[in-house]
Amino acid sequence: MNASNKTFVIKHLVVIGTGLIGGSVALALKRAGCVERITGVGRSAQNLEEAVQLGVIDDFSHDIATAVVDADMVLLAVPVAACDQVFSTLAKSLSNQAIITDAGSTKQSVMVSAERHLSDASRFVPAHPIAGTEHSGAAAAFAELFDDKKCILTPNENTDIKALATVQSMWEATGARVKIMSADEHDDVLAAVSHLPHLAAFAIVNAVGKSDHAFRFAAGGFRDFTRIASSSPEMWRDIALCNQSAIVDKIDALQAELSVLRDALTENDGDALLDKFTSAKQARDSWMSKYGDKL
Ligand code: NAP
Repeated sequence: MNASNKTFVIKHLVVIGTGLIGGSVALALKRAGCVERITGVGRSAQNLEEAVQLGVIDDFSHDIATAVVDADMVLLAVPVAACDQVFSTLAKSLSNQAIITDAGSTKQSVMVSAERHLSDASRFVPAHPIAGTEHSGAAAAFAELFDDKKCILTPNENTDIKALATVQSMWEATGARVKIMSADEHDDVLAAVSHLPHLAAFAIVNAVGKSDHAFRFAAGGFRDFTRIASSSPEMWRDIALCNQSAIVDKIDALQAELSVLRDALTENDGDALLDKFTSAKQARDSWMSKYGDKL
């Protein structure tokens, strides 16, 4: 494997978790012409057979330890709570030349698992592509998913510089724009802008209840606001548990904001409501005008 832009080629990429994200990385790297062979790993034969038929992967295995033996790059794209078990299994047979990256939505928990199980965690370069949809599985994958989207890498002081350069080249080859930050900053920022909104969307749909009556009158605003409540429940259980303390802080902040709105309503305080709605509108409008065309 060579990470200079002209000759960057992965000879054997093993994607553990051949779903939306793992499958989309595979398709994007095939599109870029920088990977010779891709093996998908997972539990469901049906998903993996479909991935081969769709040209997402070249072959598959259900056995992580066997699949990674001659890999020069391994991508973990399983739900974050499964990463600990995956690292423990692959550590037994990974070559000491192989580089590992991941796509998990939380970073500190995954790095702790890598350090616990790998004999040399310096060749693990944690990553989180900020791109996705509410759909799951290899059939939902598409090559354009990461085009011009951010991918955050969270190396630490022990990360091997060459492994970092190679992983950066790989994510750039998917079409992503790489940003680097610490894992704790990542987990705090993502708790605010991704994890809290998902939990809030789940809560709002549950608060509306299961009655078909209310849903019958819901329109585009409700659909847009709650789209992410259709995301994989297992994936979001794992994210919530793996970034518990940062998310609890954001839930507290949301509850405080809701309390202010509740008090203003019960006190018929229109000025207080206007104040809150205006500051939220200004913040969102400013964010959209700065970054809206890059989302
Ligand atoms: P997905 O479509 O459900 O794919 C996950 C894959 O992992 C499936 O192919 C599944 O296949 C396999 N898997 C599930 N549980 C496993 C386990 N316990 N052990 C081994 N394999 C397991 O999910 P995804 O959206 O691609 O998410 C993958 C990772 O990317 C997650 O860590 C997520 O946090 C992160 N991510 C997601 C998004 C998003 O918007 N979806 C965005 C950025 C990052 P089998 O069930 O057949 O094993």
